[in-house]
Amino acid sequence: MTAVTPLRGPAGVVTARASAKVNLQLSVGPLRADGFHDLVTVFHAVSLFDEVTVSSADRTSVAVTGEGGPAVPLGPANLAVRAAVALARAIGRRSRSAAGVRIEIRKRIPVAAGLAGGSGDAAAALVACNELWHGGLSLAELSEIGALIGSDVPFSLAGGTAVGLHRGEQLTTALVAGSYHWVLAFGATGLSTPDVYAACDRLRAARGSEGGAAAPELGARGAAAPQLSTELMAALRSGDPAAVGPLLSNDLQPAALSLQPLLRRALAAGKDHGALGAIVSGSGPTCAFLAADADAASDLAVAITGAGVCRAVVQVTGPAPGASLVEPGTAS
Ligand code: ATP
Repeated sequence: MTAVTPLRGPAGVVTARASAKVNLQLSVGPLRADGFHDLVTVFHAVSLFDEVTVSSADRTSVAVTGEGGPAVPLGPANLAVRAAVALARAIGRRSRSAAGVRIEIRKRIPVAAGLAGGSGDAAAALVACNELWHGGLSLAELSEIGALIGSDVPFSLAGGTAVGLHRGEQLTTALVAGSYHWVLAFGATGLSTPDVYAACDRLRAARGSEGGAAAPELGARGAAAPQLSTELMAALRSGDPAAVGPLLSNDLQPAALSLQPLLRRALAAGKDHGALGAIVSGSGPTCAFLAADADAASDLAVAITGAGVCRAVVQVTGPAPGASLVEPGTAS
């Protein structure tokens, strides 16, 4: 097991940050009897970070500032709070005061954007509270706790580029050469992940009733078992963005487009202005555009902004690190 590197802040205050993710591949299996879908996904962490600061307190509270802050729940439903509560329980801090923590979240990752911002906050809270409380848990142990909070939390802890199986929480690090330059285009409003999966099921059912699910490899509910793209993995090993771009894929994209048809215009604008690949990130509505290099990403960001097809754009690079402690005095 890998130990989490200790990094002490001033007494009683610890900050950690976690990155956003895009899915380079998101292959969604048929709806299972338990309501979930088996996934094969390739997660890729990018350099857009939320910061979570924790400090000792008599009772647990959370404050959220920044991008989309008002949309984030401030009670026990907040994923950072759930992470702190789960960690306190796991390391035996049972009384209200022993488990009390003040949590401050500074958001840059938009909410309900398909970028796993909430999972990132949970991962950062796990890392920060483990340090604050001298929990001494390894990354693997934090990951086990994180998986109970959300399927994307283990990847938010790990960072880099990784293949996720099952619900995305069973991770294997992927071999990736070089770094990739992205433009992210944020939508005007968020999309709920459950709504997007439900739309995906509806579209597949409709396709099945039109005869599209007749092929033997497709399940009764109109989807094949998810498969990792070996072509994409080879392209990632080559480090060539021109090879990676056309291989980006997302089974949830038709569903996200059905719920927010304007996303088609954003994807088209990116392609028209030279993006090597253009894709909805996860359940959307963020669109991710792959550029050849930093200069091409700057040009693309300007062109997409000018096209007026989204609320805001940012330029990021990947792979970015997993949730990690921020050196005291350098938090934003
Ligand atoms: P998913 O990881 O399911 O793809 P997402 O990346 O699209 O989700 P998030 O920003 O993680 O979206 O938010 C999903 C929902 O989680 C929000 O609608 C919000 O109500 C809830 N939530 C709870 N805690 C947080 C948090 N700390 N930050 C953002 N959202 C949170």
